[in-house]
Amino acid sequence: MFTDAPPRKEKLRQFQKSDRASKLTLPPQASLLTLAQAIETGMKNERTLEVRAACESFLSSLSHFYQVPDCPIRVLASRPLHVRENCSSELFGDYDPSAMAIRVWMRTAVRKEVTSFGTFLSTLVHEYCHHLDFQLFHFPDSWHTRGFYERAGALYHHARGSRQKRLVWAPTARGRWRIDWPRTNRG
Ligand SMILES: [Zn+2]
Repeated sequence: MFTDAPPRKEKLRQFQKSDRASKLTLPPQASLLTLAQAIETGMKNERTLEVRAACESFLSSLSHFYQVPDCPIRVLASRPLHVRENCSSELFGDYDPSAMAIRVWMRTAVRKEVTSFGTFLSTLVHEYCHHLDFQLFHFPDSWHTRGFYERAGALYHHARGSRQKRLVWAPTARGRWRIDWPRTNRG
């Protein structure tokens, strides 16, 4: 998992703000866990409509908590053919800032394997954090900064009831960072 390269001057300050903003206020956990479990049940039954309804409830409860506009969602049975691929964490969804809308899909494009619930929920939360970047933080763009991944990770683990590991970052070329998974997993 890599961060984006820092942008040019005029947006650099906002990028750095996003990078530093590693904390996200989290909503009450009990109802979020229930809403996430409904998504899992829908996926087990392989019912797209059920998953969509559950995702809608999950997202609208978040938007209510953060007091941001609702974020419409489309749940597709499988991945559309033409999809930008600039981010490895976005193999299962995307966010369109102009429409303020999320798309997620339940199957991979080629092998048609069903996405695991963990990956699906993590994608959903990741895309929703793009929504928050624009609607809550009012960033001019939504970059994959270290702060972004920290915020998305916090919300994901909160919704799953799992413990978030402290992410260990390693610098790479052009001002980008990557998560050092072996060190992160060692804790
Ligand atoms: Zn993203």
